[in-house]
Amino acid sequence: MRITHSRSLVERLLFYLGAKIMDEKFMKEALKQAKKAADLGETPVGAVIVRDGKIIARGCNKRETKKNALMHAEISAIDKACRKLGGWRLPGCDMYVTLEPCPMCAGAILNARIENVYFGAYDKKSGCAGSAVNLFDKGLCNYSLTAQGGVMEHECAAVLKDFFKSLRNSKKDYKTPENRQ
Ligand SMILES: [Zn+2]
Repeated sequence: MRITHSRSLVERLLFYLGAKIMDEKFMKEALKQAKKAADLGETPVGAVIVRDGKIIARGCNKRETKKNALMHAEISAIDKACRKLGGWRLPGCDMYVTLEPCPMCAGAILNARIENVYFGAYDKKSGCAGSAVNLFDKGLCNYSLTAQGGVMEHECAAVLKDFFKSLRNSKKDYKTPENRQ
Protein backbone atom coordinates (compact mmCIF):
# COMPACT_ATOMS: atom_id res chain seq x y z
CA MET A 1 0.00 0.00 0.00
CA ARG A 2 2.75 2.36 1.00
CA ILE A 3 4.66 1.75 -2.25
CA THR A 4 1.58 2.28 -4.39
CA HIS A 5 0.85 5.49 -2.53
CA SER A 6 4.41 6.76 -3.00
CA ARG A 7 4.40 5.86 -6.72
CA SER A 8 1.18 7.70 -7.11
CA LEU A 9 2.67 10.76 -5.47
CA VAL A 10 5.73 10.65 -7.74
CA GLU A 11 3.53 10.20 -10.78
CA ARG A 12 1.38 13.10 -9.72
CA LEU A 13 4.44 15.25 -9.11
CA LEU A 14 5.88 14.40 -12.55
CA PHE A 15 2.53 15.15 -14.16
CA TYR A 16 2.37 18.47 -12.31
CA LEU A 17 5.94 19.39 -13.31
CA GLY A 18 5.31 18.37 -16.94
CA ALA A 19 2.15 20.47 -17.07
CA LYS A 20 3.93 23.42 -15.47
CA ILE A 21 6.76 23.27 -18.03
CA MET A 22 4.24 23.19 -20.89
CA ASP A 23 2.22 26.04 -19.38
CA GLU A 24 5.34 28.19 -19.09
CA LYS A 25 6.46 27.31 -22.62
CA PHE A 26 3.21 28.62 -24.09
CA MET A 27 2.92 31.56 -21.71
CA LYS A 28 6.39 32.66 -22.84
CA GLU A 29 5.01 32.78 -26.40
CA ALA A 30 2.05 34.86 -25.19
CA LEU A 31 4.55 37.16 -23.47
CA LYS A 32 6.40 37.61 -26.78
CA GLN A 33 3.09 38.82 -28.23
CA ALA A 34 2.61 41.20 -25.30
CA LYS A 35 6.06 42.65 -25.93
CA LYS A 36 5.19 43.03 -29.61
CA ALA A 37 2.15 45.09 -28.54
CA ALA A 38 4.36 47.24 -26.29
CA ASP A 39 6.69 47.90 -29.24
CA LEU A 40 3.66 49.23 -31.12
CA GLY A 41 2.84 51.52 -28.20
CA GLU A 42 -0.11 49.34 -27.23
CA THR A 43 -0.95 48.14 -23.73
CA PRO A 44 1.05 44.90 -23.66
CA VAL A 45 -1.31 41.95 -23.68
CA GLY A 46 -0.60 38.82 -25.73
CA ALA A 47 -2.35 35.52 -26.36
CA VAL A 48 -1.76 32.21 -28.10
CA ILE A 49 -4.12 29.34 -28.88
CA VAL A 50 -2.78 25.81 -28.58
CA ARG A 51 -4.14 22.61 -30.08
CA ASP A 52 -2.51 19.17 -29.80
CA GLY A 53 0.55 20.76 -28.22
CA LYS A 54 1.07 23.23 -31.07
CA ILE A 55 0.40 26.95 -31.34
CA ILE A 56 -2.23 27.50 -34.04
CA ALA A 57 -2.83 31.23 -33.55
CA ARG A 58 -1.21 34.25 -31.94
CA GLY A 59 -2.61 37.66 -31.12
CA CYS A 60 -1.53 40.88 -29.50
CA ASN A 61 -3.46 43.95 -28.47
CA LYS A 62 -3.79 46.37 -31.41
CA ARG A 63 -6.64 48.56 -30.23
CA GLU A 64 -4.78 51.81 -30.93
CA THR A 65 -3.06 50.65 -34.13
CA LYS A 66 -6.28 49.40 -35.69
CA LYS A 67 -8.42 52.09 -34.05
CA ASN A 68 -10.83 49.33 -33.14
CA ALA A 69 -12.26 48.46 -29.72
CA LEU A 70 -12.47 44.78 -30.67
CA MET A 71 -8.77 44.31 -31.29
CA HIS A 72 -7.82 42.72 -27.98
CA ALA A 73 -5.19 39.97 -28.05
CA GLU A 74 -7.69 37.19 -27.31
CA ILE A 75 -10.14 38.27 -30.03
CA SER A 76 -7.35 38.49 -32.59
CA ALA A 77 -6.10 34.99 -31.69
CA ILE A 78 -9.63 33.53 -31.79
CA ASP A 79 -10.25 35.15 -35.18
CA LYS A 80 -7.07 33.57 -36.60
CA ALA A 81 -7.79 30.16 -35.04
CA CYS A 82 -11.35 30.11 -36.46
CA ARG A 83 -10.01 30.90 -39.93
CA LYS A 84 -7.39 28.19 -39.58
CA LEU A 85 -9.78 25.48 -38.34
CA GLY A 86 -12.60 26.63 -40.61
CA GLY A 87 -15.34 26.98 -38.01
CA TRP A 88 -16.55 29.06 -35.09
CA ARG A 89 -15.96 26.24 -32.61
CA LEU A 90 -12.40 25.63 -31.48
CA PRO A 91 -12.52 22.04 -30.18
CA GLY A 92 -9.56 20.83 -28.17
CA CYS A 93 -8.09 24.32 -28.00
CA ASP A 94 -6.49 26.04 -25.02
CA MET A 95 -5.69 29.72 -24.66
CA TYR A 96 -2.69 31.25 -22.92
CA VAL A 97 -3.11 34.96 -22.28
CA THR A 98 -0.92 37.29 -20.25
CA LEU A 99 -3.80 39.13 -18.54
CA GLU A 100 -7.09 37.92 -17.11
CA PRO A 101 -9.74 38.29 -19.85
CA CYS A 102 -12.14 41.25 -19.91
CA PRO A 103 -15.93 40.75 -20.38
CA MET A 104 -15.71 40.92 -24.19
CA CYS A 105 -12.88 38.39 -24.42
CA ALA A 106 -14.35 36.04 -21.81
CA GLY A 107 -17.55 36.07 -23.91
CA ALA A 108 -15.60 35.30 -27.09
CA ILE A 109 -13.72 32.47 -25.34
CA LEU A 110 -17.05 30.93 -24.28
CA ASN A 111 -18.55 31.37 -27.74
CA ALA A 112 -15.55 29.68 -29.35
CA ARG A 113 -15.80 26.76 -26.86
CA ILE A 114 -12.18 27.03 -25.81
CA GLU A 115 -11.57 24.28 -23.28
CA ASN A 116 -8.84 25.60 -20.99
CA VAL A 117 -7.80 29.17 -20.32
CA TYR A 118 -4.49 29.95 -18.64
CA PHE A 119 -3.81 33.55 -17.76
CA GLY A 120 -0.87 35.30 -16.14
CA ALA A 121 -1.67 38.54 -14.33
CA TYR A 122 -4.93 39.07 -12.49
CA ASP A 123 -7.04 42.11 -13.36
CA LYS A 124 -8.74 42.98 -10.10
CA LYS A 125 -10.86 45.71 -11.62
CA SER A 126 -12.35 44.04 -14.71
CA GLY A 127 -11.04 40.48 -14.89
CA CYS A 128 -13.84 38.06 -15.73
CA ALA A 129 -12.25 34.80 -14.63
CA GLY A 130 -12.97 35.41 -10.96
CA SER A 131 -11.40 38.78 -10.06
CA ALA A 132 -14.33 41.13 -10.78
CA VAL A 133 -16.83 38.48 -11.86
CA ASN A 134 -16.53 34.90 -13.02
CA LEU A 135 -18.06 34.40 -16.44
CA PHE A 136 -16.47 30.94 -16.56
CA ASP A 137 -18.57 29.78 -13.65
CA LYS A 138 -20.10 26.35 -14.25
CA GLY A 139 -23.59 27.78 -13.83
CA LEU A 140 -23.07 30.22 -16.71
CA CYS A 141 -21.03 27.96 -18.97
CA ASN A 142 -22.87 25.38 -21.08
CA TYR A 143 -19.80 23.22 -21.65
CA SER A 144 -16.74 22.19 -19.65
CA LEU A 145 -14.19 25.00 -19.38
CA THR A 146 -11.41 25.40 -16.86
CA ALA A 147 -9.56 28.61 -16.12
CA GLN A 148 -6.31 28.94 -14.24
CA GLY A 149 -4.70 32.22 -13.29
CA GLY A 150 -1.25 33.10 -12.05
CA VAL A 151 0.78 31.29 -14.76
CA MET A 152 4.07 33.24 -14.82
CA GLU A 153 2.11 35.94 -13.02
CA HIS A 154 5.18 37.95 -12.03
CA GLU A 155 6.53 38.17 -15.60
CA CYS A 156 3.10 38.96 -17.09
CA ALA A 157 2.41 41.70 -14.52
CA ALA A 158 5.93 43.11 -14.95
CA VAL A 159 5.40 43.69 -18.70
CA LEU A 160 2.34 45.81 -17.92
CA LYS A 161 4.00 47.60 -15.01
CA ASP A 162 7.09 48.47 -17.09
CA PHE A 163 4.91 49.76 -19.92
CA PHE A 164 2.91 52.11 -17.71
CA LYS A 165 6.05 53.20 -15.91
CA SER A 166 7.71 54.20 -19.19
CA LEU A 167 4.51 55.99 -20.24
CA ARG A 168 4.50 57.97 -17.01
CA ASN A 169 8.16 58.79 -17.52
CA SER A 170 7.58 60.00 -21.05
CA LYS A 171 4.49 61.89 -19.81
CA LYS A 172 3.00 61.44 -23.23
CA ASP A 173 -0.47 60.09 -23.76
CA TYR A 174 -0.61 58.74 -20.25
CA LYS A 175 -3.13 56.00 -19.61
CA THR A 176 -3.89 54.44 -16.26
CA PRO A 177 -3.75 50.68 -15.86
CA GLU A 178 -7.57 50.78 -15.66
CA ASN A 179 -7.63 51.94 -19.28
CA ARG A 180 -5.71 48.90 -20.29
CA GLN A 181 -5.72 47.48 -23.83
ZN1 LIG B 1 -10.38 41.74 -23.76
